[in-house]
Amino acid sequence: MKQAVLVIIKPDGVLKGQVGTIFMKFAQIDLEMIALKIVRPTREKIEEHYRHLKGHKFYEDLISYFMGKYHNVHKLPAIIFYGEKAIQKCRKIAGKTNPEEANPGTIRGACGRITTKGIFENVVHVSSDKSEAKREIKLWFEPEEIPIPLYRSKVKKIDAYKKKVWA
Ligand code: UDP
Ligand code: MG
Repeated sequence: MKQAVLVIIKPDGVLKGQVGTIFMKFAQIDLEMIALKIVRPTREKIEEHYRHLKGHKFYEDLISYFMGKYHNVHKLPAIIFYGEKAIQKCRKIAGKTNPEEANPGTIRGACGRITTKGIFENVVHVSSDKSEAKREIKLWFEPEEIPIPLYRSKVKKIDAYKKKVWA
């Protein structure tokens, strides 16, 4: 069964110039890239993204980190990969959550660090399971941005809908 996984390159990955290297690493596995865009990590979005971590002592610092406050980076590449065992494959390339425990051959092992505050700056986000991938992808992407019918969608008529178009 094919599955989708969300990968977001975190602010430290962008600032350290790792975007190209990360793309190359993911390109080596047999997965399709089915969506790609730059997202703006707002507090609202990140709180929803990490809602299961609310209450942890590192939560507020994690929000600040993902918002780009420590790296002054506020535009993050977000990619959806699709294929057999996509989550397992991408998490393997990313490496363990704690960059000190991650294998040096993985993205997090090679480029991550633990800050003096104790935050794991670990370069990439990768969804942890199928239901989280679905929740996260629906949070960061609109149905029209994904060129396959990945999840159930509906057509909604919105009155007085305004849309930005090229001037
Ligand atoms: N994190 C942290 N300290 C911890 C656990 C997590 O700083 O003890 C951060 C880290 O950046 C991690 C993110 O919180 O990537 C989300 O944690 P999760 O347990 O979901 O790990 P992941 O799925 O990213 O490997
Ligand atoms: Mg996680």
